[in-house]
Amino acid sequence: MQFHHHGYVSGDPRVQPAAGVGVDRPTDLPDEVDVLIVGAGPAGMIAAAQLAQFPNVVTRLVERRPGRLEIGQADGIQARSVETFQAFGFANRIIDEAFRITETCFWKPDPDHPENIVRVARTPDDPNGISEFPHLIVNQARVLDYFAEVARNAPARLEPDYGYDFITLSVAGSGDHRVTVTLRRTTGDLAERVVRAKYVIGCDGARSKVRESIGRELVGDQANHAWGVMDVLAETDFPDIRRKCAIQSHDGGSILHIPREGDHLFRMYVDLGPVHDGDHQAVRNTSQEEVEARANRILHPYTLTVRKVCWRSVYEVGHRLTDKFDDVPADLVGTRTPRVFITGDACHTHSAKAGQGMNVSMQDGWNIAWKLGHVLDGRAQGDPAGHLLRGAAGDRPEPDRLRPGMVGADGRPPRRIG
Ligand SMILES: Cc1cc2nc3c(=O)[nH]c(=O)nc-3n(C[C@H](O)[C@H](O)[C@H](O)COP(=O)(O)OP(=O)(O)OC[C@H]3O[C@@H](n4cnc5c(N)ncnc54)[C@H](O)[C@@H]3O)c2cc1C
Repeated sequence: MQFHHHGYVSGDPRVQPAAGVGVDRPTDLPDEVDVLIVGAGPAGMIAAAQLAQFPNVVTRLVERRPGRLEIGQADGIQARSVETFQAFGFANRIIDEAFRITETCFWKPDPDHPENIVRVARTPDDPNGISEFPHLIVNQARVLDYFAEVARNAPARLEPDYGYDFITLSVAGSGDHRVTVTLRRTTGDLAERVVRAKYVIGCDGARSKVRESIGRELVGDQANHAWGVMDVLAETDFPDIRRKCAIQSHDGGSILHIPREGDHLFRMYVDLGPVHDGDHQAVRNTSQEEVEARANRILHPYTLTVRKVCWRSVYEVGHRLTDKFDDVPADLVGTRTPRVFITGDACHTHSAKAGQGMNVSMQDGWNIAWKLGHVLDGRAQGDPAGHLLRGAAGDRPEPDRLRPGMVGADGRPPRRIG
């Protein structure tokens, strides 16, 4: 983490003085904002943590959940993502609580006794030394907690506005706050709320309503693939239980096995196969007993006796990509700037096997956030989608090359992380 940019700071350098919009920040969601982020997943939280460094930019983040994510979902943090955490100042703390992946074992059917699996390879996880940081396994909820802390301690003092469901939006042809967003409270009186924004970032996941409201769609795999995912404490004689493993059995079943933080827990992604049209989400009713029975069939001759299920889910996913990342229709590109962007799972989804979902989603959120921050702060012109963006020093503006008046209330320039 870099700090003491502007002289020695006494006290915790992670807590920056409140400045600009962070001084007397209203608790309630205002009627007008510069940037409205929809969704407090990895894409939305990193965008919030970055935009909160800009004391002149009013950013709010709405999330339908009533509070923080408590547990579950993705857990694989690629080494390059830990570099990103370093830029936000929490890499070392999260490394301390994570499980480090150093090697992967591959198990296949024994050619002589195909009903049994045997280890066929054990490979270093990162033979190319892609980063000085390790490949980690840590709960998505903890990643979100760290970004929430960065946003809270940033000059704009950003906190998520929980309990708001995004319903729809429309974009007007003129005016500053062109995007009119309709929200609904998810608790209490379920009242509707209208907020007008200069820009909206849709970080609302694979079933994104922001994407739907700008007429974009995900295209790609016809069918989803389903995985029974379980974080468990269990007894087993499987010898690689504390190593990441890709396990393939003779009848086509497979497991992706990942040891988890804390040295006792582990996660298994048990293959439930492709989900066909007409399934009507029936696969989601796959019972824990069935997932455990499948796991035992795949692991044969080893056995697994689950003692405690700490989290479980049936996760359905396919490889899909959006047809466009913003609200400008293809025939109007170059004639008007975008006002609505989609990021993360809202615009691309990946197989759980690849362990990419959370990683690439964070990069999306970070990328659009620093660009929007610079445009709204007047340090870069135009189109944060990248078509027209030009900072003083080219595509990526120099953080310290400021125009007069472009300082926060504390007299310090906004901080671009990274
Ligand atoms: C139930 C579940 C289980 C998963 N399990 C795994 C897994 O085991 N392994 C893996 O690699 N990946 C898993 N993923 C995928 C992984 O979590 C995502 O790839 C990653 O989190 C994408 O980040 P994101 O910020 O783009 O979207 P998400 O993490 O999906 O975040 C979207 C956020 O937007 C909120 N939201 C959605 N709609 C609205 C709305 N209308 N109004 C307001 N808020 C809204 C959601 O509550 C959520 O907090 C899982 C995802 C889900 C949803």
